[in-house]
Amino acid sequence: MRSHSLSRRAFLGAAAALAAAPGSLKALAARWPRPGWAAVPPGADSDAPTAHSCPCQGQDAAAAQAGADAPSAQAAQHRDIVAARYSPEFATPALVAGLDFPVVDYHVHATDGTPPEGLLALARERGIKIGIAQHGGIQEGMRNDDDMRQFLARWAGQPVYRGMQGDGLAWPKMFSKEMIARLDYVIADAMIFPEKDGRLVELWTPAAKIPDPEDFMERYVAYNLQVMNEQPIDILASSSFLPEALVGDYDRLWTDERMERVIETARKLGVALEISGLYHIPSKKFILKAKQAGVKFSFGSNSRGKDLGNIAYSIRMAKECALARSDIFTPAPHDQKPVIRRATVRRGNS
Ligand SMILES: [Zn+2]
Repeated sequence: MRSHSLSRRAFLGAAAALAAAPGSLKALAARWPRPGWAAVPPGADSDAPTAHSCPCQGQDAAAAQAGADAPSAQAAQHRDIVAARYSPEFATPALVAGLDFPVVDYHVHATDGTPPEGLLALARERGIKIGIAQHGGIQEGMRNDDDMRQFLARWAGQPVYRGMQGDGLAWPKMFSKEMIARLDYVIADAMIFPEKDGRLVELWTPAAKIPDPEDFMERYVAYNLQVMNEQPIDILASSSFLPEALVGDYDRLWTDERMERVIETARKLGVALEISGLYHIPSKKFILKAKQAGVKFSFGSNSRGKDLGNIAYSIRMAKECALARSDIFTPAPHDQKPVIRRATVRRGNS
């Protein structure tokens, strides 16, 4: 498990290197492991990136290790300081009533040990449907077609959508197109951010120090475009996320021009924007702008299991922004899956 963590770190480092200098898989292999990554044991450094692409991910790792290793110090220190700003607020049948589309929480990780029937009972109680977003692209989650096959089989016949959260820009090379297209949907976020020196910084943790917000925003917007351009995803998760230090300046930092760059790329590529119940993003202004451009939306709790349906913010925004069925993401038919539709994976920052 530990050695896997090391190789995962190396993998993400290599993915960042590849992103900086696009090339072949061979080039990626040559850069892997990347100096400065592989040597750092998990939990040894509080400020260094821990190479988890999602706040839930460290906990996924701990859950995956249950019964084998004690949860790592890394998982314990893997604090989501942005999510801590908001108390969970769950969907309810009353809250959902009035919307003209079924409410789905597409960002459920199912890693807290709650059995499927327990998760389904919670979803029913909260008046919603759920999509299981299994991590993929790194060793704590799915790493190859066989893993994906097992995941699909585990949830086959259950009334859930079966999706993946792709971690690291290189995951599309780790699975066959045929397998990716069997998923109902794929999500990815821009929350592991490649710094100028090549370090990957987890933006939701105290490791994210932003000395120059304007400079950060320019690079961060470009990275958001890259995440959408280089991965065949259905949904940009935690869209418009900002590190804790910048949350108070959200409206100033997300200028019209920056919002429009993200929105235009999402529109062009057919990527839906997640309205995150966990982080209370994007803002109403952002959502209205994206809606006007014809971008679709999904709802997500980024939960580990029992906290599924923490999407009251998403539902409120849907009502305030008058989102209708036509504005809401639904899993595409097979021939319209991004991995099929986007036959060639685009590269570049725009
Ligand atoms: Zn997640």
